[in-house]
Amino acid sequence: MIIFKQAETLTTYLQKQKDNNQTIGFVPTMGALHAGHLSLISGCKKENDLTVCSIFVNPTQFNDAKDFEKYPVTISDDILELERLDCDILFLPSVKEIYPDGTASAKVYNIGHLETILEGKFRPGHFQGVCQVVEKLLSVVIPHKIYLGQKDFQQCKVIQRLIEILELPVELKIRKTMREPAGLAMSSRNMRLNTTEKEQALAIYQSLKLIQKKFKHIPFQQLKEESKLKLQSNGFSKIDYVEIADAQTLEISEVYETTKNYVALIAAFLGEVRLIDNLLLNDY
Ligand code: AMP
Repeated sequence: MIIFKQAETLTTYLQKQKDNNQTIGFVPTMGALHAGHLSLISGCKKENDLTVCSIFVNPTQFNDAKDFEKYPVTISDDILELERLDCDILFLPSVKEIYPDGTASAKVYNIGHLETILEGKFRPGHFQGVCQVVEKLLSVVIPHKIYLGQKDFQQCKVIQRLIEILELPVELKIRKTMREPAGLAMSSRNMRLNTTEKEQALAIYQSLKLIQKKFKHIPFQQLKEESKLKLQSNGFSKIDYVEIADAQTLEISEVYETTKNYVALIAAFLGEVRLIDNLLLNDY
């Protein structure tokens, strides 16, 4: 695996590969790699000649300074994992490399209602930061395909929108959420949970499964209330949201319509750790 720290050097290298008809797949991450990230890398390797992974903990997408400070960093283990998977290229830039003129963005991305619902509502500015970094990363790598996890469902919608706004010739591939055997969605933030909290965290997946089982028969409001109670009784100290939304548009839905597909989404805190997960309800 070749490690690049400079954007320009990477762009020049990849341009040469593209001139030789090599296809480029890109997997952006913030590191602390787990099996979810690794499944994106493996999928990317199958569908492209060259796989580029980036590790960059992007300061502009953290609306909470403490969350940023405590974000796990495990670079040497990450490199070993990427080498084991035979990833071709790792882009490991510094903050200065990504934001040579500072982190303040002059640009506002028009992502519509995605800005003000769910993650957008509870993490103001988060998706502007995501758009800022993804635009930069895409301009450096200029991949044919970009791979994202369904785990961050709203982020997938935002990046799809960004690709449309910027009219980029890149194909977005969304891969399913990798889970621990009992159902907990893999996440870098799980490293901050102790054994008891990991057990308690299962209540998120169990709530999503319960909603999936009942969403055609029980009013959404009632399902959301039941889920909140379940989370609270399993030690979740704060619940940002339990919502059911149209899986296509991500508009929040109140009643079931037979013609639509739905997704249930949860964000809640166990102690200081904020966890998110979602489930496509029609997928079973
Ligand atoms: P992150 O490092 O958390 O920014 O995640 C990098 C990419 O990995 C994003 O596209 C995430 O959606 C994806 N990802 C995170 N967790 C999982 C998971 N459990 N399964 C599949 N993909 C994931």
